[in-house]
Amino acid sequence: MKNKQDQFKKITAHCKEYGYIFQSSEIYDGLSASYDYGPYGVLLKNNIKEYWWKAMVQMHENIVGLDAAILMHPKVWKASGHVDAFNDPMIDNKDSKKRYRADTLIEDYVANKVDAKIEKEVAKARKRFGDAFDEAQFRATNGRVLQYTKKREDIISRFVKSMETNELDGLKDLIEELGIACPESGSKNWTDVRQFNLMFAMQFGALASDAEDSQVYLRPETAQGIFVNFLNVQKTTRQKLPFGIAQIGKAFRNEIVARQFIFRMREFEQMEMQFFVKPGTELKWYEYWKEQRLKWHQAIFPAHKLKFHKHEKLAHYANAASDIEFEYPFGFKEIEGIHSRTDFDLGEHQKLSGRKLQYFDSEAQESYVPFVVETSVGVDRLFFAVVANSLQEEQVPDAKGGMATRVVMKIPPVLAPIKVAVLPLLKNKPELTAKARKVFDKLKFVTDCQYDEKDAIGRRYRRQDAIGTPYCVTIDFDTLEDDTVTVRDRDTLEQIRLPIDALEGYINKILSFNQLFA
Ligand code: ATP
Repeated sequence: MKNKQDQFKKITAHCKEYGYIFQSSEIYDGLSASYDYGPYGVLLKNNIKEYWWKAMVQMHENIVGLDAAILMHPKVWKASGHVDAFNDPMIDNKDSKKRYRADTLIEDYVANKVDAKIEKEVAKARKRFGDAFDEAQFRATNGRVLQYTKKREDIISRFVKSMETNELDGLKDLIEELGIACPESGSKNWTDVRQFNLMFAMQFGALASDAEDSQVYLRPETAQGIFVNFLNVQKTTRQKLPFGIAQIGKAFRNEIVARQFIFRMREFEQMEMQFFVKPGTELKWYEYWKEQRLKWHQAIFPAHKLKFHKHEKLAHYANAASDIEFEYPFGFKEIEGIHSRTDFDLGEHQKLSGRKLQYFDSEAQESYVPFVVETSVGVDRLFFAVVANSLQEEQVPDAKGGMATRVVMKIPPVLAPIKVAVLPLLKNKPELTAKARKVFDKLKFVTDCQYDEKDAIGRRYRRQDAIGTPYCVTIDFDTLEDDTVTVRDRDTLEQIRLPIDALEGYINKILSFNQLFA
């Protein structure tokens, strides 16, 4: 645990020191759960978005893009259910004065105090029995595992019932009966559970009035902009079912607890795709998108750091839902949601607006409201995962024949903020710096580059390692003779010699998004 906390601290400190992420309004002591992306952060973030956009829109003939406004008619949020039901149950600890989400306290208890114990028993048995171990049989028959499994089922069924029926006392009873303590103070002195609506409301226009539509909301998800434009997009692009609409944009939630850096922010960015399908085929497409989206993540993260988590409690609009979870320094947590949203959203908008939101199926010769499968991933949670997965400390040979520690960000090269650093071997040799400038002026047309001549070459390499630059191109005295440069690979530390004229082709090949799609 301590190691994990250390890792978390190292990530936040590194992000600040190297211009990735700053606390918002830092000179005024910051605004909680708001963050600014610095010079390298914005580049990495843009690259993540480009990777998603290409994978979803460019690679699918039947997915098109959209950029809807953040502010929408207030009835949108009435129809979608957000005004009445976009709540989280909130509880305070009377001693520590810390606020928590009651559902998260219970879910964390199940994960850490029940599931973890089951997995421990299984791991012990696997070790004991070796190759002869039959895991399925062990899980089905071992006394202790069965005891924990039963406990899990009891907790989850009471939890789901309380959440579904809005029975807040039921949640409080569970917290007390399970002896859940405040993670900060250990105190079990809790307030009652209350509902809290997560939408930010504001007045629209110069004259605040009591009129129902003068109160607008900052959108809590980008999806509704897609639903209300469903027919506009379908008609103008002449798409046939199944087809999708993809959108990247800011979303806002007045989160109850926000203590996990950019994992949970009050202003964040989503990349959502709503896939419209014929009713009855939605669960097939739901499975399809689960698999596609997992593969997308596996191209940039190791498989063991990703897993599916099936929702125990379905949202009011869903008939199936799973998260893809990533192993953050504080454990496996949701990075993306894949939801089968039925015809709930289009159906409700149709009812409240009085406008038809139906698709005419020319094959079946009938009109209907399509069903929707959604994939929804947070840009900031992806960003956090990329940094957490790539930040490493390792021992490497130093110039004196010994070993030294280097801090390196092994970001997948296509996503790295700066792709190539151009470095003259020495600063005070005008012939080297002039040549290096020429190389830089050529490469800046190809990709994001940085020219750096300050400090000894070894220190510049370390600086680029810490930023995550995958390639350093060094201009030395041989360059002046034969127009070749060394290219140093961030991860292997290998150096190869290449003609300057070959650099563009080399970079284009290894830094293409096709590397990830392959
Ligand atoms: P959680 O259970 O963690 O609150 P959620 O289930 O409410 O998340 P969704 O409504 O499914 O999240 O939103 C889709 C995606 O948007 C999430 O998978 C996550 O990546 C991102 N997201 C949601 N809330 C936040 C937030 N407060 N800060 C950053 N990203 C967020």
